[in-house]
Amino acid sequence: MFDLIIRNANLPDGRRGIDVGIAGEKIAAVEAGLPGGAREVIDATNRLVSPSFVDPHFHMDATLSLGLPRMNVSGTLLEGIALWGELRPLLTREALVERALAYCDLAVSQGLLHIRTHVDTSDPRLVTVEAMLEVKERVAPYIDLQLVAFPQDGYYRASEGVESLERALDMGVDIVGGIPHFERTMQEGAMSVEALCRIAADRGLPVDMHCDETDDPMSRHIETLAAQTVRFGLKGRVAGSHLTSMHSMDNYYVSKLIPLMAEAEINVIPNPLINIMLQGRHDTYPKRRGMTRVRELMAAGLNVSFGHDCVMDPWYSMGSGDMLEVGHMAIHVAQMSGVEDKKKIFDALTVNSAKALGLEDYGLDAGCHADLVILQAEDVPEALRLKPTRLAVLRRGKVIARTVPKITELQIEGRPERIDAGYNPTARR
Ligand SMILES: [Zn+2]
Repeated sequence: MFDLIIRNANLPDGRRGIDVGIAGEKIAAVEAGLPGGAREVIDATNRLVSPSFVDPHFHMDATLSLGLPRMNVSGTLLEGIALWGELRPLLTREALVERALAYCDLAVSQGLLHIRTHVDTSDPRLVTVEAMLEVKERVAPYIDLQLVAFPQDGYYRASEGVESLERALDMGVDIVGGIPHFERTMQEGAMSVEALCRIAADRGLPVDMHCDETDDPMSRHIETLAAQTVRFGLKGRVAGSHLTSMHSMDNYYVSKLIPLMAEAEINVIPNPLINIMLQGRHDTYPKRRGMTRVRELMAAGLNVSFGHDCVMDPWYSMGSGDMLEVGHMAIHVAQMSGVEDKKKIFDALTVNSAKALGLEDYGLDAGCHADLVILQAEDVPEALRLKPTRLAVLRRGKVIARTVPKITELQIEGRPERIDAGYNPTARR
């Protein structure tokens, strides 16, 4: 006897007509024709059932602040940072918490239940840290929230940057961040990478740095990050976020760099929506795409996952909390449209990002947490194409969000009466 059975589901690995039996907070069985009953049964015929989505890179202290205190007129990264600097002194804990909770509601509705957010530690008041620690606790029943101490204005470049970051970690922030390309010089950037890796090693914490978020082909902090990762024994615990300079680097140099990153087991976290929007801004034509080398990094065995980064904030006026929107953009920017490519892109929104975050008991096997999303799509390619309705979202075995399916009633003589998402010529009905 199960508490809940999802009947006849299609799974991301391609299996179809599978039952998922849930007992308490865990998945108890995953097989076709599961015998036995349940208190609740959800029919998922022709629907994809996936582990809940994971966002490995976000800024929850900035989200939903669009227009405060003004709009980003140029739309550039640098005006975004300047604008955030104008907003920061005006931030209150109450407003930060309210906006973050609103974003978390949106995330749940999209089946996004695990988020790593960078928290700006540049303002010594650390009101951002206080607010995000409160949010982490309040959303814990429905969202796993990880916090990164992020020195937005530079670890060395900001006055009190060094002290503020340490204080944020003392207050309970989980992960050491950094922004070496924003320090005053390449040398100070490299020094910051070393200092921050040392802190992580001393405190037993993971590292996740904004690294080389620039079009400068000579911005090479990822090389230093890989070397310091090995030196401090942090293999597998370090993430390099963005890495956009790799898009512009010399190919010969990259052929040396990628094996160094693989040796250090760096988790690679590009942010396709933001990278395509903010990079290449100084180019005329041809205009660079600015996303890191996803296909080549995956081929070298590196763990690549995609972040949403921003939703309606000083840097990005768009966004929806939908990781499938991120995947949709990734397919285009990385030009990964092949059959196997799409599976890899979907993994980068789910299992790969779960690995980057070190989530335990994540997935679709017996024994995993029953954190699931049922989509109005038949399979992974259709989910990535349509960004479909999340019909139900489960957290620890309980439905916490439902959305009615999108069904259009056609009133055209001689044509079908309904369109139910789909229209997929390869779907087996
Ligand atoms: Zn970021």
